[in-house]
Parts: sequence; C-alpha cells; structure tokens
Amino acid sequence: MNKQELIAKIKQCNDEYWKENNPSISDEEYDRLIQQLRKVDPNNKEIFVIGASSVVDKVKHETPLLSLNKAYSLEEVKKWMESVSDSPEELFLVQPKYDGMTAKYDTKNFCLSTRGNGYVGENITHVLPLVKVVSRSSQSILIGELVLTKAEFEYLKQSLSRKDGSSYSTARNAVAGIVSSKSIKEYCEKDIHLTLMSFDAIEFKYTAEQIVNNWLELLDSVSNLDVPIDGMVIKLADTTKYEKLGCTSHHPRWALAFKFANIRAESILRDVEWSHGRYALTPVAIFDPVEIGGVTISRANLHNLNNIRAKDIQLGDRIVVERAGDVIPDIIESTPGSSRTIIDITHCPFCNTKVGKFAGNVVCTNPNCSETIVRQLINGAGVLGIDGLGVSTMTQLVQSGITELSELFSLDIDSLASLNGFANKAAENLYNAIQKVTNGVEDYHLLASIGIAQLGVTTAKKLCSKYSLDEIVKLNADDLMTVPSIGFEKAHIIEAGLKEKYIELELLQRIIHVKRASGEAKTAATICFTGKMDKPRSHYAQLARNKGWIPVDKVSESLHLLVTENINDNTAKLMKAKKFGVSICSLGEWLKSVL
Ligand SMILES: [Zn+2]
Repeated sequence: MNKQELIAKIKQCNDEYWKENNPSISDEEYDRLIQQLRKVDPNNKEIFVIGASSVVDKVKHETPLLSLNKAYSLEEVKKWMESVSDSPEELFLVQPKYDGMTAKYDTKNFCLSTRGNGYVGENITHVLPLVKVVSRSSQSILIGELVLTKAEFEYLKQSLSRKDGSSYSTARNAVAGIVSSKSIKEYCEKDIHLTLMSFDAIEFKYTAEQIVNNWLELLDSVSNLDVPIDGMVIKLADTTKYEKLGCTSHHPRWALAFKFANIRAESILRDVEWSHGRYALTPVAIFDPVEIGGVTISRANLHNLNNIRAKDIQLGDRIVVERAGDVIPDIIESTPGSSRTIIDITHCPFCNTKVGKFAGNVVCTNPNCSETIVRQLINGAGVLGIDGLGVSTMTQLVQSGITELSELFSLDIDSLASLNGFANKAAENLYNAIQKVTNGVEDYHLLASIGIAQLGVTTAKKLCSKYSLDEIVKLNADDLMTVPSIGFEKAHIIEAGLKEKYIELELLQRIIHVKRASGEAKTAATICFTGKMDKPRSHYAQLARNKGWIPVDKVSESLHLLVTENINDNTAKLMKAKKFGVSICSLGEWLKSVL
C-alpha cells in the first residue's frame, strides 16, 4: 500500500467505526495501519481521529519513572533532609509538585507517554497537538507533569461537558479525561491546550535551614502560578549522590514530595477583613489558627459575597479549611455556630464611601479612593513589567497626585528622589525601570495594565488575538461576547471599562512601543515544513508550536514562512511558495533562529 492508499484505507475505517458503527477490520489490524501511517506521515489528521489506537500501545521507560515518597508535615521533611545531608551546607532543589498526570516526552522519537507503573507507560502521542511544553532543559527526554492551567480548566468547564453531561470536578480529572479520549478533535476545535510542565521548569536552591525558615515565602512564590499545585518536591541538588543513596522499588531515596492535597482542618471563624484587590474589595476570613501543610494558618480568602452566601458562612461558624490542589487555603464548609453574625460591608474601610455591589463583588464607588488607585497602579505597573514599585512607593506617588499609569512616565529622577526612603541611586534605578518599558510591551499586557475590571492578562490575550487595540476600544458587549470565556455580565463590565479608559490606553500607546505579540501568533505567524528532514516533520511542527508559530500543512498566500531542508529543491510546495512570494528559509537557518 502506498501512502495515499494507506490514508484512504484509514479514512474508510474511521468512517466505518465512527459514522456507520460497523468496522470491517479488527482493532489490531487498525492499529497496524495507524502505526504505518505514523511512520510516513506522523501529523496526518486521520491518525488523530481515533487517537493513537483503540488498543493503547505501551512505552517502556529506559530509566524508571518512580513515584516519590510522601511527607505530610514540615517536621517529616526536616527529618528527611537531615538524614540525607552530609553537612548543613548541603543544597536542595525545591520544585512545585504539579497536580496533573506525570508524562515523558521523547522529543527525538516524537513520543509522549504516561508514567504507568513506572517501568511501562501508555503511549499518548495522539494528544501531542494539544500540548504546550514549558521547560528549561535542552535534553531530548523531558519528564514533567501534564496539566491544565487554571485558566484553561475554567475555559474547559465553560465550553465542554463530559459525555454524561456533568462537568469536570478537578483539573486532574479533566487531564485524565482528555488523555483517555479516543479523538482529540473536539478539544482542537475548542482550542483547549494541555501544558507539559517539565519538572525543572521552576526550581529554587536552598539549604535545609533556608527551606524551613523560608517555607511561607516559598509557598507564596508558587501560589500565584497559573498551574494547579498539590505540594512541593524536595530533592538533593548534588546528582552525584543519587547512585549512592539509590532507590527502593517504589521511590528514590534522594527526593521527597511534601503533599498538601486534601489536607483539611477545622476552626472557628472570628472576623472578616476587607482588603483592596485590583478591582474589588476582597473578604479575608480570620479564624483560630490551625496547622495545614506544615504551616500555621489563620486567614483564608473568601473571594466574594456570592461565595459567602452560597456556603452560608457567617461569623461564629465552625468552618472546614482546606488546601486542596493549591496553596491558598479555602473555606469549603461551614456549620452554623450557636451565635452567628451575617458577613456584610456597607462602606469602604479606607475612604468610608458607600460601596457598590454587583455579581457578589464589592467595589468602592469613590473614583478617587486612594487605596483603589494604589492597587490598580501597582497591578498595572507589574503587568507592564516595571520592577520596584511597591505599596509604600506607590502610596506616596498617589499622594503626590498621580492617578494614571501614563503619568509615571513623565516623572524625572529628581521627583522620584524626593520620595521618602529613596536614595539617589534608588530613584535612578526606578526611573530607568520605568523608561525601559517604553521600548516595547505586548499589546495584551498594555490592555491588561490600564485597570479595567474583569480584563486581566488572560482575557486581554484572547481579545488581542482577535482584534487590534484600536478595534478593541470600539467593541460593544455583543462583540465582546463572541470571545470565548466572556459572558454577558463580564462583557458589560469590560465595555464600560473601555469607555472609561480609552484615553489612558491611547496615551500609553503614544508613550510605549506596542508589539502585536499575541495577535501575530494567533492569526499571522503560520509556518509550513516541506521536503525530507532528518527528524519527523511533526517534531519540527511541535517545536514551532512551542515557539508560538502555528504549523500548517498547505502553502497559501497567507502563509508566513516555508521551511525546507534545501531551498534549491523543486518540490510543489516550494514552487507554490515562490509563486506567492512567501518567505522561505532553510531548516538549519530556522533552527538557529529558534534554538
Ligand atoms: Zn474607598
């Protein structure tokens, strides 16, 4: 059978199986056909119709992927670190323990597999088109955790339900569901992505003493990641010791997982503090201290009034605090106490103006509330990438009359040096940090920086992938609702925000060089590979995808780059690209530009 016949045969089998429910060949025969096609054309869409195969093939792990021994308290972690340390200077690597499915990506052989029992896993290469890779490693074998980011999981819950109509309860279940589905077609259509977080993508290096002393800061530094986490992994930094320490049949002795998942504790809710977030006043629960995950906790985020009402939480109640799949504690249950007080707020605790409430969110209605302005400006400066603007500096700047982000750019060194606690050097550093930003900021970062409620970086990215900034300021709620994850209420809030902030956006565009990052990646930067290459074409396609390109199969006028092993070849694609005036570069050149 030649390639065309093979594709036609598989297409016929797919139709028989899915449309007619009447397969003419056995699953084993079907798998053989798929494997043949994968060899000659690994990216052919027919492969992905049913997935890798109906009978899952197995992948043997040359180096076993053992699971880690688990600890549930900082005390246990401390004991283990002492037992494997040769001296107090011994260094450990601390990595977030991502909450998903452990996977191995063999980039040379273009094969993605699960951990399985540690020695043999399942081949899940068919989901690769959905996978974004986050890694710092240059090794050809990447080991990490396949996860849905928090934003992707929220988007998935809104756009897809399970076969029985229910929605996924946890991101981990959803990953398992996607990986085990025979076809990834619907996920492709909805633009849903999995992320492979290589274990070394984020890591900190500390001594045992530093880990114990900085534990809270470590938790804080990973708590804002967009990836679900259910613990931390701690391993010896000195890999030469691994062999000496060895492994049991289940786990290596040189690493330990400190798991937080499903750790709950009971307490009594005593008070609620309202703190200013970016856009709204956030209720923070204050309760009798309890220990979870090795840390004493007495505060938890209550999110908003809707959450408080839905769980019927009142002051004086007995509450269950949980740290599940995340490091920020949550109150999951409340049992009425003998004497209870409803949680509510009428006036801004900072400026004493009457608050407004919508969709469970509480906002200070005073446009000049200095606390709101400070929080918005700090957030906006952070989104733009300006370092060194903390609460105290920003509070002083707001007191001196600054109300918008664009005004920061006209501050000179002298006016910064007049701030309390600012030496000349610090003022100069801050001045440089502010001016550096004017060299270039992505469009979606600019849009997310101006302080429109409900318009954070994720939503801004989605908007900018569809529209230019000039178009966005003119969008009404109906237009906004055509963007995934923007519902009715959110659309109206954003529309109002855009009307209020369009001048600020215009001013910032004049000051800052704007890069159309996301827009180009989504709509323009298409790439096509052609000709014989020494690795499967799909390997390069995956690499391109990781670098923000969109690999396509066909050469058209709108194609941005054709990559070929030899630019003097005379393949049909190359001829066509020349005819259309599409940019062409050699594989070697392209690899140099992305690696
Ligand atoms: Zn206020």
